[in-house]
Amino acid sequence: MLYALVGKKLIRADEYVDNKQAFRCTGCGDAVRLRHGSVNIAHFAHINKQCVFENEAESYEHLLGKLQLYQISKIIGQAQVEVTFPSIKQRADIVLKYKQQKLILEYQCSPISIEQVKKRTQAYQTLGYKVIWLLGPKYAQNKITKKLLTKFNMPLLNFYNTKTQKITIRYNFNVIDFQSIKSATRELDLQRLLEVVNVSKNKLIWQDIVVSDDLLKQQGFKIQQLLVRKNLEWLKIQQECYQQNHNLGGIPWICHPKRSMPVALNMSHILWRCQCILFLEKYTIESIITTASLQQIFIAIGRWLDVDSRFIKYVVNQFIIELVTNKFLISISKGVLMLNSHPTWYQNWQVKTNSLKLN
Ligand SMILES: [Zn+2]
Repeated sequence: MLYALVGKKLIRADEYVDNKQAFRCTGCGDAVRLRHGSVNIAHFAHINKQCVFENEAESYEHLLGKLQLYQISKIIGQAQVEVTFPSIKQRADIVLKYKQQKLILEYQCSPISIEQVKKRTQAYQTLGYKVIWLLGPKYAQNKITKKLLTKFNMPLLNFYNTKTQKITIRYNFNVIDFQSIKSATRELDLQRLLEVVNVSKNKLIWQDIVVSDDLLKQQGFKIQQLLVRKNLEWLKIQQECYQQNHNLGGIPWICHPKRSMPVALNMSHILWRCQCILFLEKYTIESIITTASLQQIFIAIGRWLDVDSRFIKYVVNQFIIELVTNKFLISISKGVLMLNSHPTWYQNWQVKTNSLKLN
């Protein structure tokens, strides 16, 4: 903490030298100690137990980032650092009033659970604040995972680096099965970040990437490997395939998305599409089904992440569009589809790979 109480007076750690005073936490009121050294930033720390107002053991990185972000915030709006909210037992890093908006900036350096992020975000929302999470260098170094994206509520991840004093955003997260998540990166200032955050809430900014034939072949091989290595999730679906006289190794190409997908499924797209077509096979040719009920069934088949539902709809609709484009389904009137044929399964992955060469 940068601030503490002496009696009823709020004081800043770097304005004080007499550490024999009785300093108290602005949140819980417990005793805190003044700390300063040549390498550290003057701050206060609890003497005894952990404080409910403190969300992480404060590191040098966090103190420095908080101070820097406070300086940047002051330039564009009305800013306060370390604001205690007794009613929700939280202490915000920075409170910023900017163009009628009540914002809270949280500089997150240490690990945090998804429950904590949600709890804090919702608590601030009840008081009319919108929280913007800025992630520290440890987060920037690590791989982007589905877990991280859902935790900080994509479509954007914001990072702040105290060395460069720059804000970086990552956006346009793209998933291709068996590949790491791809994204775009841009450096921007705080003012621009606040604009971008507002836009991305209302509009889906997302662009896909084409999956090359080479990558498709690699996927075919990867599936074979997973089956040989007896991967449990894949073996379970292999059992379902066997029951319908198919081999998962020879899964139709329609189950491989030809373009990257947004982050929405908490499983492989190939496995999800596989289960969808196994389901369709239970229908006889020329069966009629509404698009709405097909969407519902396809959603029920998948395991989804807690993301913007527009991404989920996109993944589902994209597959339905491909099924129509490839004439497995025919649109007979608005919102009504007819099953026209079933995708061809291959005997095994080699036959399947060769089929791609011929095309
Ligand atoms: Zn405290």
